[in-house]
Amino acid sequence: MEVDYVIVGQGIAGTMLSYYLLQQGNTVIVVDEFNPNSASQVASGVINPVTGRRFVTTWMIETLMPFAQKAYQALEKLLNISIIQQTQLIDFHTTQQMQQAFQQRANDDNTYVSELTNTNHWQQYFQYAHGIGTIQPVFHIQLQTLLSTWRNYLQQQQILIQEVFSLQNLTLSSNSITYRNIKAKAIIFCNGVQAMHLPYFNKLPFAPNKGEALILYLPNLPTQYLYKHGISLIPWQNDLWWAGSSYEWSYSNALPTQNFQQKTMQQLQQWLKMPFQLQQHIASERPATLERRPFVGMHPYFPQIGILNGFGTKGCSLAPYFAYALVQHLTNGHPILAEAAINRFQKILQP
Ligand SMILES: Cc1cc2nc3c(=O)[nH]c(=O)nc-3n(C[C@H](O)[C@H](O)[C@H](O)COP(=O)(O)OP(=O)(O)OC[C@H]3O[C@@H](n4cnc5c(N)ncnc54)[C@H](O)[C@@H]3O)c2cc1C
Repeated sequence: MEVDYVIVGQGIAGTMLSYYLLQQGNTVIVVDEFNPNSASQVASGVINPVTGRRFVTTWMIETLMPFAQKAYQALEKLLNISIIQQTQLIDFHTTQQMQQAFQQRANDDNTYVSELTNTNHWQQYFQYAHGIGTIQPVFHIQLQTLLSTWRNYLQQQQILIQEVFSLQNLTLSSNSITYRNIKAKAIIFCNGVQAMHLPYFNKLPFAPNKGEALILYLPNLPTQYLYKHGISLIPWQNDLWWAGSSYEWSYSNALPTQNFQQKTMQQLQQWLKMPFQLQQHIASERPATLERRPFVGMHPYFPQIGILNGFGTKGCSLAPYFAYALVQHLTNGHPILAEAAINRFQKILQP
């Protein structure tokens, strides 16, 4: 069997890459084992235009956010699903300092952020002492719906192989690859944190970090908003809410911890005025990078091997744009943005 590209991984990166490659008329095979604890399965699916304790504008967000919006809307149409919602994040300031930082940001530049003056409405749901701000537009992506529907789509086209990819089944030739009995022009790794263990990419400055979240049964909270009070509360499905997250740089495994559960339950009890029940505790590793920029493109010394990775905390906004950029590179030779292009690591990637 012969195809244009083999893609390893069907998280948000592999989903977007296979979508754009097919859209441009290429043939693909996607290899994915399905891991319910992969980053894309565990993520809350938020695209937030500001970041950090000073609410600075996220890198390239003016380009990334409208691009992502169009991409998810096009997928909604193609797959006949509802996966993107434009919304606002109601930010309950945790301390006086945080309130001041938010007000300062709103005074300097009120694109995306503004302070709420009438906050009475929220007293029936939440306990808070330092005012409320709003961040908008924020987008909420139903990642699990997208990933499972796209998986079915690939299955129907008979272009998904559900198995653990193994390098033992990969053979490289000068301008092609063979995976099992499939010959292709190139293989592209969209395998999240697992890419760190590939001999081709293990020298890249990955800096994975672990995130945990609780799934809560919490009926009666208005679902048209997202909420934050240190921890975020994001609508999950039906009356379930996603509550998280943590950013751990040092950990021995990617499993849920008692420590996170206890701390988060306590915080929620102090914040929420309504009863809630813990339904599930999830955790995963974000494929983050030291410089907080993605890894996109073909290996400088193995041009038939590519990567689309390093999306860290921002897979929902980065994956559509950089998947498209990689497809433009592969099919039309367009250069990839220097800050994201893998060839910036030419020296360290030398075999
Ligand atoms: C708790 C948490 C909350 C988050 N919240 C957000 C958020 O709100 N917004 C946002 O934009 N980002 C968020 N993120 C980050 C986001 O999840 C990641 O940036 C994104 O999911 C990375 O996608 P990926 O496709 O690169 O990797 P992954 O999602 O890890 O996908 C990799 C895929 O490769 C497959 N795979 C790996 N190895 C193999 C193999 N050997 N054989 C076969 N298949 C294989 C896996 O099964 C998986 O399907 C969050 C992450 C976490 C952990």
